[in-house]
Amino acid sequence: MTQQINANRELFDDVMVPNYSPSAVIPVRGKGARVWDQQEKEYIDFAGGIAVNCLGHCHPALVDALKTQGEKIWHLSNVMTNEPALRLAKKIVDATFAEKVYFANSGAESNEAALKLVRRWALDNHGPHKTKIISFKQGFHGRTFFTVSVGGQEIYSDGFGPKPGDIVHAEYNNLDSVKELICDNTCAVVMEPLQGEGGIISPTQEFVEGVRELCDQFNALLVFDEVQTGVGRTGDLYAYMGLNVTPDILTTAKALGGGFPIGAMITTTEIAKHLKVGTHGSTYGGNPLACAVAEAAFDTVNNKEVLDGVKQKEAQFKAGLAAINAKYDVFKEVRGKGLLIGAVLKDELKGKAKDFLNAAMAEGLMSLVAGPNIVRFAPSLVITDEEINEGLQRFEKAVSKMVNG
Ligand SMILES: *Cc1c(COP(=O)(O)O)cnc(C)c1O
Repeated sequence: MTQQINANRELFDDVMVPNYSPSAVIPVRGKGARVWDQQEKEYIDFAGGIAVNCLGHCHPALVDALKTQGEKIWHLSNVMTNEPALRLAKKIVDATFAEKVYFANSGAESNEAALKLVRRWALDNHGPHKTKIISFKQGFHGRTFFTVSVGGQEIYSDGFGPKPGDIVHAEYNNLDSVKELICDNTCAVVMEPLQGEGGIISPTQEFVEGVRELCDQFNALLVFDEVQTGVGRTGDLYAYMGLNVTPDILTTAKALGGGFPIGAMITTTEIAKHLKVGTHGSTYGGNPLACAVAEAAFDTVNNKEVLDGVKQKEAQFKAGLAAINAKYDVFKEVRGKGLLIGAVLKDELKGKAKDFLNAAMAEGLMSLVAGPNIVRFAPSLVITDEEINEGLQRFEKAVSKMVNG
């Protein structure tokens, strides 16, 4: 007989490692941009599982791919290749600068592969002195020890003993700070082409172009972490396309699987050859079930209609937030690109982003924060105009309660 378990929020504190502090709300199902909790309360989802659910919840194309592949074969390991992985890799290669793909299961693992590759590439091509990695303050690249050390927030990387070495942090959007650090010993510059977790900060055109030139000048590889910005999030298939600056290595995860865990590190043939047989690997990476779902997500997002739709929805979002701000005067700035939007709270409301998120939740709207002062929105890329309007109305109610107490 199976034991009946009351899966409520109290049980979390009993049985889960306390590294998260989840909401009391436990969602049980979703459809498109809507989600329902255990009490059947309905929410509009502007969070998208942290910029993951690029096609909302239970999109028919993804459900179909999952069911179809689920009845064929789930897992093989990399002792054998499989059809969904090969098809997905071919589609990614055809759509981007890259010629080679390595599959992982998450953003951090994709970055881990990129970081090991840049070190190996430099060792093979230039010698053991070339190990310096330059990344950026406030940057975020995942939670493995290497990626969290490359990330630019010490509160995430301190307290675990000695860190991987020769990693330095420059200031985002400050080319001089990169110039001060870069030298012949630099093997790579690692950056998000729009800082997500760090506060929804777009790079200036001069900055990205300048970083690309410095990398070329010092024989360093440019790695774009597009884990959050990739697969349509900014209105281009990848953000680098909108910037007209091509990296040497790119990592993609989050939206790649539309909710199914998968990540990838993509690069040129010339660079990829340094990860030769036996140098790196993963048991699950490129598993047929994940790749089949990701292939359906990639096909659905990678077309003009969806990508143009993101740009049009960005305008609708920003206009709606501007209208709310005109009434309540709560934001210093609304920024971001595509459907990765940050509403920066005024100084008087400093530190209150989480309170706005909680107030919105009470009104039936799921949102995110990016640090203590920014409310972040990363909804489905195919959310309808009506759902955006209704979600913004709910957000306005929350703002009004925050302002009027
Ligand atoms: C979320 C994120 C990661 C980490 O991805 P995981 O799947 O949580 O490992 C890495 N880089 C960026 C830019 C991210 O936004």
